[in-house]
Amino acid sequence: MKLIDTHCHLYLPEFDSDRNDVIHRAQESGVDKFFLPNIDSSSVNSMLLLSAANSGICYPMMGLHPGSVKDDWLREITIIEKYLFNTTGLKFYGIGETGLDGYWDKSYVHKQKENFQRHIGWAKELHLPITIHSREATEECIALIKENKDENLTGIFHCFTGTIEQAHEIADMDFYLGIGGVVTFKNAGLDKVLEQIDLEHIVLETDSPYLAPVPYRGKRNETSYLKLIVSKIAVIKNLPLEEVASITTRNAMRVFQL
Ligand SMILES: [Zn+2]
Repeated sequence: MKLIDTHCHLYLPEFDSDRNDVIHRAQESGVDKFFLPNIDSSSVNSMLLLSAANSGICYPMMGLHPGSVKDDWLREITIIEKYLFNTTGLKFYGIGETGLDGYWDKSYVHKQKENFQRHIGWAKELHLPITIHSREATEECIALIKENKDENLTGIFHCFTGTIEQAHEIADMDFYLGIGGVVTFKNAGLDKVLEQIDLEHIVLETDSPYLAPVPYRGKRNETSYLKLIVSKIAVIKNLPLEEVASITTRNAMRVFQL
């Protein structure tokens, strides 16, 4: 069984004491690729170091997280853009993570939109998939993607927790739903959505160190827990584990153009 974690922040300090063990455990459980979304200028170095030390295993993306959009946005986005358009041969496999976050702080909504729009432009220009963070803003994110959709623009609605209608809209735009630990939470309602969405539109993720699946909910998440997410989806879809793994892995390879 081969799995891909399409969204994990294994470069964060939460893994400083046992990062290699975490990667090793994940590999033992079947994960052979890890996609690393960036957060902001402060996370770039550790992300690039991890990717360089694990070439062909860890794949970096470049972007500015909506939660890091503050008064110094212009300074941040300039740094991110410089990395993205570097002339040193440094390769990024996606744009992100970016998007909108309506949960924490409403005072930067306009800047978050401008930030998201900038990332959509890069994704189209560079023909790279975009990883979208859409917490409490799924409708707005769908609308912005719809407005900007062309035949090249694709990507992942990471940590999707929306409605069936939204899931269909995303699939119809040729985007993928990133499904992680939330699928194991009681009362999250994501099982009802997944029952009606074809596996062709789904990729797997952990969002480590956040959003650990049951029975680790509330604790540090790590990529080896991806197997708990696959198992849950296999139960929901009433399909063998291996089939869920192979379809979602193929989807991940497709969206990241590998
Ligand atoms: Zn993330």
